Amino acid sequence: MSEREKTRLVHASRGKIIGEVGTVNPPVVRCSTVLYKDLATRQAVRDRRAAGERCFSYGALGTPTTYALEDAINEIEGGSRTMLFPTGLAAVAHPFLSLLLPGDHVLLAETVYGPARAVAVNYLTKRNINCEFYAGGHEEVKKRLKPNTRMVYLDNPGSIIYDVQDLPALAALLKGRETFLVVDNTWGSPGMYKPLALGADVSIIALTKYVGGHSDLVLGSVSGGPRTADRLWKDANTLGQSVSPDDAYSALKGLRTAAARLAMHRQHTAEVIAWLERQPQVKRILYPAHPKDPGHALWKRDFKGANGLFSIELADRYKQADADRVVDALRLFGIGASWGGYESLALTYPIVHGWKGGALIRFHIGLEDPADMIEDLAKGLAVL
Ligand SMILES: *Cc1c(COP(=O)(O)O)cnc(C)c1O
Repeated sequence: MSEREKTRLVHASRGKIIGEVGTVNPPVVRCSTVLYKDLATRQAVRDRRAAGERCFSYGALGTPTTYALEDAINEIEGGSRTMLFPTGLAAVAHPFLSLLLPGDHVLLAETVYGPARAVAVNYLTKRNINCEFYAGGHEEVKKRLKPNTRMVYLDNPGSIIYDVQDLPALAALLKGRETFLVVDNTWGSPGMYKPLALGADVSIIALTKYVGGHSDLVLGSVSGGPRTADRLWKDANTLGQSVSPDDAYSALKGLRTAAARLAMHRQHTAEVIAWLERQPQVKRILYPAHPKDPGHALWKRDFKGANGLFSIELADRYKQADADRVVDALRLFGIGASWGGYESLALTYPIVHGWKGGALIRFHIGLEDPADMIEDLAKGLAVL
C-alpha cells in the first residue's frame, strides 16, 4: 500500500473540531426520529432528500456516524456514492436487485463468492433473470454477450482459487453498452484494488473482513460510479437498507489500523508460503501475489497489495478427505470461513466451482508469530 493510501485510511472521515476542540473519532449517533426546529425546515430537508441529497433526516436513512464510514469508503473506492448494508451479502445482493429487471441476462464468473451464486440461482432465476456462469476471463465474456446482457459480475480475484481477471479488458469490451460491470472487491479492500478506476460501475466490499478486522461485526458497502450511483442509492433507501451506528463506528476503527494489519498479514503469509512450497505434500499455491501464480502479472499491474488469504493444492496422490484430515490436525488455526480478522483460519470445501485440480485447503494467515503457524502446519501435514 502506498504512503498516500495509508494516510487516507487514517484520515478519511475523522472527527471534526467544532468551536475550540473536537474528538479524533466521529461520535456514535443513535437515533430513530430526528427533531426539526419547525415544519418549514422539515419540508425543506425532505425536498433536498427527494432531489437526491443525503440529509440527516431519519435514523433508518443514516446518521452522522454511518455517513462518516460511507464517506471514508467512498473516498477509498473513488465512488460517486457509497451506501452501507447490514451484511456483505446484502451488499452483494443490492446491485442485482436494483440494476436488473425481468428478461435481463447476467454473466457471472464461475468463481463468485458462494452465497452470490445462490442469489443468482435461487432468487434471480425465479424472477425471469437469465443467469449464466462463465469460466475464465474477458474472452469468455465476449463469446457470451447478448443484446439483453445487463450485467457482468465477478469477484476479483475469484473466491477460493483466487484467479485474477483483466478488469480494464472487461470494461473495454462493455464500452458503449448498457451492461454494468460489477465487482466484489472484498479481497482488495481496503485500498489495494480500485475497480471503479479500472472501469467497473460498482464495487462491493464485505466490510466484515479486513475493514472490521476483528471478527466481531458483519457489514457491507456498495460504491457506485456515475452510471449507477443514484439508482443504487434511491433503491437502497426505498428498500430500507440501514446499518447500526455502533457497527459503523467499529468498522471505522478497523479502517484506521487496516494498512498496518494488512502489511503484517502479507509478511506472515509470505513466510508461511515460502515454507509450504518446500513441502513434498504441496503441489501448488493459489495466491496472486506469488510469482508462480498464473494471475501474478495482472495482480502486479492492477493491485497495490495482498493479504493473508490463499489456498494450497495437495500433491496428486491425495484426496479431499486427506485435506480434511490435515485441517482437523491443526491446533492454532481456527476452522472457520469468515477471514480478515486477526486470527489464522483453515478450511476445506466439498465443492469449489471453477476448480478442476486436486485436493484444496484454504488458509487465512493471521497476526500470530508465523514460526508457530509453520510448526502447526508441519504437524498437520505429518498426518498424510
Ligand atoms: C464474506 C464475503 C462476503 C459476505 O460478507 P458477509 O458480511 O459475511 O455477508 C461477500 N463477498 C466476499 C468475497 C466475502 O468474502
